Amino acid sequence: MAARMLAARPFKLVSHLPSMHASTPLFARQISMDAKGFASRLVDAGLLRSQALIGGKWSDAYDGNTIKVHNPATGDVITTVPCMGQNETNDAISAASEAFSSWSKVTNVERSKCLRKWYDLLISHKEELGQLITLEQGKPLQEAMGEVTYGAGFIEFFAEEAKRVYGDIIPSPLADRRMLVLKQPVGVVGAITPWNFPLAMITRKVGPALACGCTVVIKPSELTPLTALAAAELALQAGIPPGVMNVVMGNASAIGDALLASPQVRKITFTGSTAVGKKLMAGAAGTVKKVSLELGGNAPCIVFDDADLDVAVKGTLGAKFRNTGQTCVCANRIMVQEGIYEKFVDAFTKAVQKLQVGHGFSEGVAQGPLINEAAVQKVESFVKDATSKGAKVVLGAKRHSLGMTFYEPTVLSDVKSDMIIARDEIFGPVASVLRFKTEDEALRMANDTNAGLAAYIFTNNVQRSWRVAEALEYGLVGVNEGLISTEVAPFGGVKQSGLGREGSKYGMDEYLEVKYVCLGNMSSK
Ligand code: NAP
Repeated sequence: MAARMLAARPFKLVSHLPSMHASTPLFARQISMDAKGFASRLVDAGLLRSQALIGGKWSDAYDGNTIKVHNPATGDVITTVPCMGQNETNDAISAASEAFSSWSKVTNVERSKCLRKWYDLLISHKEELGQLITLEQGKPLQEAMGEVTYGAGFIEFFAEEAKRVYGDIIPSPLADRRMLVLKQPVGVVGAITPWNFPLAMITRKVGPALACGCTVVIKPSELTPLTALAAAELALQAGIPPGVMNVVMGNASAIGDALLASPQVRKITFTGSTAVGKKLMAGAAGTVKKVSLELGGNAPCIVFDDADLDVAVKGTLGAKFRNTGQTCVCANRIMVQEGIYEKFVDAFTKAVQKLQVGHGFSEGVAQGPLINEAAVQKVESFVKDATSKGAKVVLGAKRHSLGMTFYEPTVLSDVKSDMIIARDEIFGPVASVLRFKTEDEALRMANDTNAGLAAYIFTNNVQRSWRVAEALEYGLVGVNEGLISTEVAPFGGVKQSGLGREGSKYGMDEYLEVKYVCLGNMSSK
């Protein structure tokens, strides 16, 4: 999708990357034939890492176990990475804890400079990082490079925010006292991230954590660990000290449990499914950790009769088909008012028909593969349930002729609120279109869910846009716009879509403790 929306820029392979690291990366494992061209360039740049990072050292699993990383477009194995568990995680926590004592005392200006250098390196390696994202996650290359820009943006933004961690002076009600508030880093942070944005979901957490003086143990998804490792390599090159940023991967529950059990870990930040988020929240109670959660959504996209049809079609297309429908803010329920329903479905379907499906490295492709077979089966079961209950197939609704995990961009009309497709997150390229009569009915339908992450409205009525935006029980609302995520605005959900906010000045609060200091005996001479 983003491939289409970003200005068309021909895809060019990087062929002359300077060697960024004196030592040869520890990359000596299997690489599939189709990935070899990209892999050799990434190796030259020191960015194809296949070991975890603990205390500044690249490390294998202690028992030598590995997991395979696949290219979802071909099923080929790209390489293997360590399959780690409790022991390695405990060592990463110790490294982060040791590094915290010095990193938290480094001046904000120094921390800001390190982050700025990291940002510069991420941007200067935008093409290689984009290739890596496409290779392991499948999204089209232009969209993957868009993620690098977006993800690096969090590092740039929080490099600047590092200088603005202000406290307060409270006017004292007692003459002999002075009262102040200090903001201090929380401590060691455990950051668990999903596969759909292999870079941005990490930088959105690590940027503010490091800016505040925290150190981190990151656990990326086992499906997309390579981008996390490349980002960690660039963090080392930027001068972020050993132990400040550690990356472990492998057995998710063993790693999660070790992070939860450790009293040294003072904060868990998680992006992923609501089910896992709830487990982590419960597990964090044992040591009373601070928790922030970015969980699943069920975004309504409400198109009113008075909307500009072209704006609504373009905005809905972006909100639905970004990352082949695999984002937490994807339009899950496209709710269209009856007066514009037929026109909208017709124009929207014509736009969806133009989306080219293919391997992320092919030029012009707007829709890549789904992440794995389980994702395709989930989409198929949702479509089957909907059509068996009366939804109509306007377009697609089957696997793509490319095979593998490619699914045809799909439009279903006459979807009803009680169908599974309207109640659960689709996470695939299926647009489900519902019909409503009045604004009140639209609001009731939109809010009738446990999720509350993103919502979209299309209308040319200013009063209505204000009224509906206020009444929607969601953390983010796009009005006449389908792509609203940015590092400068707060991102997060209400209800069971999460706790806390990422990005923007509010994103810093998640990594800071507030300390009240009271100075007594201040009036005596
Ligand atoms: P997931 O299955 O919950 O996995 C997310 C992360 O949690 C992965 O690193 C996973 O590891 C790990 N994990 C799984 N079980 C765990 C456990 N018991 N303890 C500790 N960690 C555990 O979600 P996903 O399928 O990767 O991502 C899709 C979901 O993320 C969707 O629901 C989407 O809406 C949500 N999401 C939300 C946002 C947001 O900002 N609100 C953004 C993006 C995605 P492994 O992968 O290695 O198993």
